[in-house]
Amino acid sequence: MIIGVPKEIKNNENRIAITPAGVQALNSAGHTVLIETNAGTNSGFSDDSFRAVGAEVLSNRDELWQKANLILKVKEPLPEEYKYFREDLAIFTYLHLASAPELSEHLLKSKATAIAYETIQLDDGSLPLLTPMSEVAGRMAIQIGAHILEKRQGGRGLLLGGVPGVEPGHVVIVGGGIVGTNAATIALGLRAKVTILENNSKRIRELDNLFGGQVQVIMSNPYNIEKAVVNADLVIGAVLVPGARAPRLVTKEMVKQMRSGSVIIDVAIDQGGCIETIDRVTTHDEPTYTRYGVVHYGVANMPGAVPYTSTIALTNLTLPYILEIASKGIDRAMEENKFLAKGLNIQGGEIIHPSVASALKESL
Ligand code: NAD
Repeated sequence: MIIGVPKEIKNNENRIAITPAGVQALNSAGHTVLIETNAGTNSGFSDDSFRAVGAEVLSNRDELWQKANLILKVKEPLPEEYKYFREDLAIFTYLHLASAPELSEHLLKSKATAIAYETIQLDDGSLPLLTPMSEVAGRMAIQIGAHILEKRQGGRGLLLGGVPGVEPGHVVIVGGGIVGTNAATIALGLRAKVTILENNSKRIRELDNLFGGQVQVIMSNPYNIEKAVVNADLVIGAVLVPGARAPRLVTKEMVKQMRSGSVIIDVAIDQGGCIETIDRVTTHDEPTYTRYGVVHYGVANMPGAVPYTSTIALTNLTLPYILEIASKGIDRAMEENKFLAKGLNIQGGEIIHPSVASALKESL
């Protein structure tokens, strides 16, 4: 198969959909890999590093899209890329089609095949290609929070881990899933005091076992959230209710009672945010604003700031699926791998994924 990897064109997107390790694996399996010039530069992978493992580096984007049977990307195709869609082309990337009627319409009209990272699903309901980005964001949340707590960044001038003789900062994490667990792990590593609020009792038990009593794991309800949040130095919003907007669990009244110079990082901002006073998405260029004396951070694409780590974390998990698609072809790969088959969103002018179909029913 001929596999094309274009440079991402979305603003501030520095990741690439393959690393030299992936190119080497595809090359050894007999496939041709075309990489657009400088596609990996911002993730730390030079054109030469791809050439060294057998990739053909092309400066002509049109040629790359036209020659390839399978395009690998990180973000959804943008309007400038719609012209490349055609019946014998498959695209494997994050797509989020349920909220992208225009892109869906172009894919349908062209009869191209669209396979979405985010809908590949295992038997236990987990979404393996979303996990690595939650791991990155959860770990980053503590690193960023610790930095903002410095006086010069608008924080109260507190060292999160304390020092001998001085108490550490208190990190309160709302939501104990992948983001929350990774945030707690890093906060503990810094020697902060950590509390997680979670509303799933099975998960509460798992977290209690996992952290062996080093983290306080408490049932999430408005009473407990208020008690924890008003005394926190750093609050991390990390809840997810699948298919729904994030619930606003930390209210304006709670934020008003927090100490001046405390920090809130709402990782769940990409699902609308779970903190009432985070009322807008912020950017890597202007990541924070202060309300009621508390510094707020609500960047929706946190992993974009660490493209080296994010690219490797993502491609570690996408590569086995890419190899399977390349070696078996789309139809056989989908027949033989039911997890990968859940990723099939659009094929032959039809929406295949049921939830994507029902989400788009109104808008198409
Ligand atoms: P997850 O499903 O692994 O975890 C979410 C947790 O929230 C679950 O354990 C769930 O039981 C818990 N929860 C639900 N309702 C709750 C409530 N009322 N109180 C307390 N806990 C509750 O999800 P995740 O992968 O950890 O992702 C969390 C959020 O972070 C998602 O919105 C995700 O989209 C977002 N995210 C954002 C970025 C970013 O760059 N900002 C990056 C990755 C993920």
